[in-house]
Amino acid sequence: MTPPRALMLGASLRADLRRWSEQSAPHEACGFLIGRRIGDTSIVARATLEANVHLTPLRAFTVDPVAVLRAHDAAAACSLHVIGVWHSHPASDSAVPSAADTSSAWPGHVAWIVARRQSRAYCMGIDGLTPLTSTHPSQRRRRACTGRKRTGSQRHDEPGRPGA
Ligand SMILES: [Zn+2]
Repeated sequence: MTPPRALMLGASLRADLRRWSEQSAPHEACGFLIGRRIGDTSIVARATLEANVHLTPLRAFTVDPVAVLRAHDAAAACSLHVIGVWHSHPASDSAVPSAADTSSAWPGHVAWIVARRQSRAYCMGIDGLTPLTSTHPSQRRRRACTGRKRTGSQRHDEPGRPGA
């Protein structure tokens, strides 16, 4: 996947990530960013909070592999994708990726880091984790999704994408 150049993340989702980070401290919090890619921009529609199963969650994070599969399924059921992973740095003021963040980042995906005084988006490209421009989307309402899995007989294509 070509790395995005920008990320759209709404104010209420930013507030959710901030709240989850504070509730999980002193452990690092983590979860997924679910949404879609339009051109060079990754647009976040939903975020999840997942258990940090790392052996030393004070200093690092690992998302349970089962949660990874579940997130991909739930996203696909809404015609969305897992576009990135977010996590917190509860002991840092600035949102700077660690060496472990760089080595474990998924190519082409967004990494959103929530520190005590700053949040920042990065993307894993061929030069490692590079900062992304992050913006707030317009306040138009997005289609709700229940996250239920669709079956073959109930499958429907996304409106506005004939033949997709
Ligand atoms: Zn980190």
